[in-house]
Amino acid sequence: MDSREIRLKSRPVGVPGPEHFELASVALPAPGPGEVLVRNRFMSVDPYMRGRMYDRPSYVPPFQVGRPLEGGAVGEVVQSNDPSLSPGDLVLSMLGWREAFVAPASALTRLQAIPGVPDQAFLGILGMPGLTAWAGLTQIGEPKAGETLFVSGGAGAVGSAVAQIGKNLGLTVVATAGSDAKCAWLTSVGVDHAINYRSCGSLLDAVRAAAPKGIDIYFDNVGGEHLEVAIECARPFARLVECGMISQYNATEPPPGPRNIIMVVGKSIRMQGFIVTQFAHLQPQFLAQVGGWIAEGRLKWEETVKEGIAAAPEAFIGLFSGANMGKMLVRL
Ligand code: NDP
Repeated sequence: MDSREIRLKSRPVGVPGPEHFELASVALPAPGPGEVLVRNRFMSVDPYMRGRMYDRPSYVPPFQVGRPLEGGAVGEVVQSNDPSLSPGDLVLSMLGWREAFVAPASALTRLQAIPGVPDQAFLGILGMPGLTAWAGLTQIGEPKAGETLFVSGGAGAVGSAVAQIGKNLGLTVVATAGSDAKCAWLTSVGVDHAINYRSCGSLLDAVRAAAPKGIDIYFDNVGGEHLEVAIECARPFARLVECGMISQYNATEPPPGPRNIIMVVGKSIRMQGFIVTQFAHLQPQFLAQVGGWIAEGRLKWEETVKEGIAAAPEAFIGLFSGANMGKMLVRL
């Protein structure tokens, strides 16, 4: 069987372009003992992949030029030489941007389909982005009902989950996003104040107006000016949950730090970063709480789906210009 895959052609400097990726065809071997053949249905497209395009030490190894990009995918077992998996089983893999692959069954997670929930939700709200949102907010943000949460990247996969989890926990939620359509969606799912950061003028004035008494938690997906505004608006003992800083992922020079960082002292602010895998052990609690809210209609999600493996680079590049509402996916 043949499969196509997306490889890293060269390491981008600045914003990635189509020239940094190549589409290649490969002939798959027959699965050996303990191995399975999987055909992917959906591939996840994630901002953290940009970090893996740099050749530098990090919490995950860099992508190799000429090799396929690795990332989350949901697929169906076509052929199995392992008793743990059967044809038709739905599996989650981290083997990435390929239409199909052969791998040891032990490298895959068998998924239990949930009635009414599409398979690709395991790459979004019920997957890595959902766990990131839930764990970051509940474990690091330490929310208390009645507090005010500010979340940037509010209409993205992680941000939209954070905003709604915040509402379900009794918080007032202020969220930013890059278009009026994204803000309208956020308002429709209960966000108290949705700010279009591209058209609002002064972001500081807009957040101050939305949260006149200040913010207790900032869930950072963006960094840069958003982080400065959060520090400025933080109440004493605020928690800054440092999840990501997408505004800086393509920077060619070290970006300046928050100019008002000194305020973390006087306001006794706690600023803590995290990587979602540190909370893998909380998966059962996450699925129970978030799954419950989904079943009760108290948590919604959007997805932006590009068609076919050849569209994957465009989907990835689009993350940096806000081309997605909700989770960015490629259907295979
Ligand atoms: P999103 O679905 O949020 O997609 C990225 C969004 O970021 C875009 O749609 C765009 O929306 C916004 N954006 C892009 N560039 C800028 C910019 N310069 N300024 C402001 N907003 C920008 O992605 P995810 O939900 O998958 O990820 C969100 C964040 O969480 C990222 O920073 C990611 O790296 C991080 N993350 C961290 C994890 C961890 O373990 N710590 C795990 C998973 C994700 P808009 O139209 O609003 O600009």
